[in-house]
Amino acid sequence: MPLHKSPSRARSRHIGRSDQLNRQLFLGFVRTHILLHAIEASICGVEITEELGRHGYRMSPGTLYPILHDLASAGYLKCAPKVESGRVRKYYTGTARGRWALGEAKKRLKELVEEVLDEKR
Ligand SMILES: [Zn+2]
Repeated sequence: MPLHKSPSRARSRHIGRSDQLNRQLFLGFVRTHILLHAIEASICGVEITEELGRHGYRMSPGTLYPILHDLASAGYLKCAPKVESGRVRKYYTGTARGRWALGEAKKRLKELVEEVLDEKR
């Protein structure tokens, strides 16, 4: 913790709110990203955290694991434990339903990207 004066209460509240908004706004991106990678290859939580970090999304286990659980309950991912150097890790793999959902997301993404990135608007 830095020793200099902390920001005013109002300012830190504002930062907290925009963080929360960003989290909600980017949640669909994060979910789509997880789905994409789990379809390409089985992936564990640590690897997902690293991959999302590479793209600028900082995910705590408390945020990531409920998302993985949701995607698994929706039938988009299946989860299987794997023993790796004496440790049990849960690996997530995209299902046929997950593949279908990603296909739907791709169609909508394409439309969204075209509209959002249209500089002439
Ligand atoms: Zn990626």
